Amino acid sequence: MESAKTLQLFPRMIPNILKDLCTGVVDLIYPPLCLICDNRLEGGYSEICPKCLANFKLIGKPHEQFSIPGDVHISKAWALFEFDEPFQNLIHHLKYSRRRKPIGVVLNHYKSQILDQLPVDEIDLVISIPLHPRKLRERGYNQVDDMSRWLAESLNTTLGSHLVKRTKYTSTQTKLSAEERVENVRAAFGITDGFAIKDNHILLVDDVLTTGATSNTLAGVLKEYGAGEIDLITLSTPRFGSA
Ligand SMILES: [Zn+2]
Repeated sequence: MESAKTLQLFPRMIPNILKDLCTGVVDLIYPPLCLICDNRLEGGYSEICPKCLANFKLIGKPHEQFSIPGDVHISKAWALFEFDEPFQNLIHHLKYSRRRKPIGVVLNHYKSQILDQLPVDEIDLVISIPLHPRKLRERGYNQVDDMSRWLAESLNTTLGSHLVKRTKYTSTQTKLSAEERVENVRAAFGITDGFAIKDNHILLVDDVLTTGATSNTLAGVLKEYGAGEIDLITLSTPRFGSA
């Protein structure tokens, strides 16, 4: 019975195998396409074409006002690019299609404009907001780590993502009050080396700024360990963008 089923399935698999083979051959013969507009990439450009790269809209200044319940522990929050359709497309690839190179291409293209906004000589540590352990298992990596590494290198400072751990999964928060949620998220963060945090100016890194509540909670935990000023940088935000 089982083998008959396998035999029935096999012919249906052949078109898929052929399709995969053809895709591989086509990729070898033709240059790859722009992730955003699907036009062919030429002239040594990788992942994103020069036109799409130039069309991303850099916001150019940080947000300094937050509507978060409780104390605000973050001084400044950069959401670097406008949340327009091309940028949403880029973020979707970053989160769900395991394509890690495009974000480096965008950050390198806008490197000087990004660094001009940041307190370059003041930041001591760059730390990724840790993923939920379950998401980390599903994805195999934290997609924010590439941006953190890029920032630490560009700012010539220390990468400290290993100093923060997310110890439990906080999935069902809908029945909790705002205060209970903060406590629930707070209890999910662990610091692995408090001494390395003390008196340091920290730049937290996330992909998208939504409410800022999670980063603010982590910032509160870091302040309990004696952290100095804490800023946040994200790629974009649906809250202040044009979309
Ligand atoms: Zn393009």
